[in-house]
Amino acid sequence: MSNRRDFIKGASLLTLGGLLAGKTTQAVASTTMKTSSSAKKNIGLQIYSLGKELYEDVPGGLKKIGQMGYSTIELAGYKEGTINGVDMVEFKKMAEDAGLKITSTHVNPPVREYTAANKGEIADFWKRAADDHAKIGVTYLIQPGQPSTRNVEEVARVCEVFNEAGQIAKAAGLSFGYHNHEMEFARVIPGGEDMVFGRRGFGREQPKGIEVIYDAFIQRTDPSLVFFEMDVYWAVMGQNDPVAYMQKYSDRIKVLHIKDKAVLGQSGMMNFENIFKQAYANGIKDYFVELEGITAGTQFEGVKGCVDYLLKASFVK
Ligand code: MG
Repeated sequence: MSNRRDFIKGASLLTLGGLLAGKTTQAVASTTMKTSSSAKKNIGLQIYSLGKELYEDVPGGLKKIGQMGYSTIELAGYKEGTINGVDMVEFKKMAEDAGLKITSTHVNPPVREYTAANKGEIADFWKRAADDHAKIGVTYLIQPGQPSTRNVEEVARVCEVFNEAGQIAKAAGLSFGYHNHEMEFARVIPGGEDMVFGRRGFGREQPKGIEVIYDAFIQRTDPSLVFFEMDVYWAVMGQNDPVAYMQKYSDRIKVLHIKDKAVLGQSGMMNFENIFKQAYANGIKDYFVELEGITAGTQFEGVKGCVDYLLKASFVK
């Protein structure tokens, strides 16, 4: 996918981030005492991070999350009024009992390729999803999965569907958002056969009308209907700087996924200090920790490692 030179360029960026992150860790250790007694930090968790472990005992698992220091959660696993088979109203009660507020949810429509023929089906799906989440007082209705975007025309159609989802969500009192992985930083051309990832993907002759999918999503959607939840780890994996994106689109990126290769701060490849600095400068209040890829211990232990990192970090308010 990406050639060797792209990889080296990406690797050197990551190393720089790692060095900066290393410096931060030392600074953090010396200020821990000062920050630990101050006001409670508002730290969110995407519950997908817990995988199946949460469903062994949902009320008990949610209590553990609350005790760790998280205060909000973002749902995953919505299907017909349930979260992984647990009635949503029941789920909300269990969260409240654990001192957690459900502020966001990740939901994907049932189809990946958007066509004129399935527009109605997608709209019906979003209506039900928006109503179900409005009932439990969720603020953000977020699509985490990338639809088919093989060329500029498909990207434009996806943006129309996003705008429509935004209207549906707004009518139900919610805000519709989109969450990225790395392939949104691929590029497309008019009439193209597939998206291309990597700086030199189209070769020496750069075709006309190239668009970066993520930028196109932002520019082709209505700011009053669609916002963006930037996953900072996947932006880096997409060979881009999340801070630069937050600066460029400060009015569109309103929520973050705070994610690392595994437990936060351990890989050394994410400069969370700069990310939080920019988030505060932009007025971003909501973010959710996400954990994937741990190789040792339980998901609960990993999720605890993440919140401990943020609780100790002097750059997290
Ligand atoms: Mg994420």
